[in-house]
Amino acid sequence: MAEPILEVRGLVKHYPLTTGILFKKQVGAVKAVDGVDFHLDRGETLGIVGESGCGKSTVARMLVNLERPTAGEIRYKGEDITRLSGRALKAVRRNIQMVFQDPYTSLNPRMTVGDIIGEAYEIHPEAAPKGDRRARVRDLLDVVGLNPEYINRYPHQFSGGQRQRIGIARGLALRPEIIVADEPVSALDVSVQAQVINLMGRLQDEFDLSYLFIAHDLSIVRHISDRVGVMYLGRIVETGRDAEIYDHPTHPYTQALLSAVPVPDPDARERRERIILAGDVPSPTNIPSGCRFRTRCWKARERCALEVPALAVPAEFRYAAGPAAHDSACHFAEEKRVVPPADEGPSAAGGAEGGGDAEGGDAGGAESRGGGDAGGAAGRGDGGASGVAGGPAPGGPRRRGAHREDGEDGEDGEDGEDGEDGEEGGEGGSGGAGAGGA
Ligand code: ADP
Ligand code: MG
Repeated sequence: MAEPILEVRGLVKHYPLTTGILFKKQVGAVKAVDGVDFHLDRGETLGIVGESGCGKSTVARMLVNLERPTAGEIRYKGEDITRLSGRALKAVRRNIQMVFQDPYTSLNPRMTVGDIIGEAYEIHPEAAPKGDRRARVRDLLDVVGLNPEYINRYPHQFSGGQRQRIGIARGLALRPEIIVADEPVSALDVSVQAQVINLMGRLQDEFDLSYLFIAHDLSIVRHISDRVGVMYLGRIVETGRDAEIYDHPTHPYTQALLSAVPVPDPDARERRERIILAGDVPSPTNIPSGCRFRTRCWKARERCALEVPALAVPAEFRYAAGPAAHDSACHFAEEKRVVPPADEGPSAAGGAEGGGDAEGGDAGGAESRGGGDAGGAAGRGDGGASGVAGGPAPGGPRRRGAHREDGEDGEDGEDGEDGEDGEEGGEGGSGGAGAGGA
């Protein structure tokens, strides 16, 4: 098999906790990322999923060099980039770009869209000759489905979904090979999420991109990922191909996460087992011994407190090649299908995301999107691209521009205020207000 485009080994980020003012003394550490391993193959999408605070953004920031790891390696095409500096580092950074979670706060409200997207060329002038830059930015706007005429507008003149399109255009400006997308749709209204995800799917084919796609909810990454890694308290606890994780999870934490995913089909919902985890996520300053999940695990026994389970194919599945034979860091790994197979049909595909929102008015949107985005979603081998809620079709390869934006504006009204995203809703709201006032 070809060498992965990105490989992470033993990645660690500990933030020191200190006391004292003049004479700082370290009294502990926030173990935000505590030994993460994964690889990303060329052209694939790896979804990283886990509850708020488990270290996803910290991993993302280290990948794009916004933060230095405490330990571990980040290999890009075989070369450890954590040791690079100067020109060599700059060349690599150009190829690994980030799309941020919150389009309300990640775009400078005082800059025009043209300057925001074109800023990358100031930092990497070799990427585009000066005379070409405006034209490139207009092309990028077109590519992400925005009217190139809007190049002189400011972020507050756009809806949430449009702003995230601007964030994506900015990420594409240098023609990177890898995009690290940190919860790119979490701050968006449910109906807009599908449009942005479909756009990202289309761009992946068009620009031959590899994605690390971060989400806090398994239902969102299902429609875009080829493989999934489930994170808990700074580590990946289970990883495998889509079907392995969704239909044959063996780690109790993954099973618990899946049991909380909305199931649109009422019959399947009835048959689905709900797993309610005991207690809260422990603090990353005080990680349990042995298996870090044991304090919330219904299967925990003495061994779990003593021995750290390795992320590997569990012994009981090792010799039986099958979907359960994937990496799972559990001493008592057990296959368990949490979400019963749904009957195929539009309703099953329609609302994997956000239950109630997928009903009623959205149904039409789901259908038209299936057609409109055929170009982008085709070949993903997962009809479920249409599964993330409804909303107007993004229009796919058809005409882009003014039409689509009107569609999004309507939805955006609810966007910042209702904070459907439990984790960051507040941030989205205040960010929106700030940008609007500027
Ligand atoms: P996620 O993106 O999964 O929600 P983060 O990577 O943002 O998680 O954070 C992981 C943990 O690290 C959290 O407990 C967070 O409070 C802590 N953390 C993040 N950044 C810092 C920092 N600069 N200093 C101290 N702790 C931090
Ligand atoms: Mg985060």
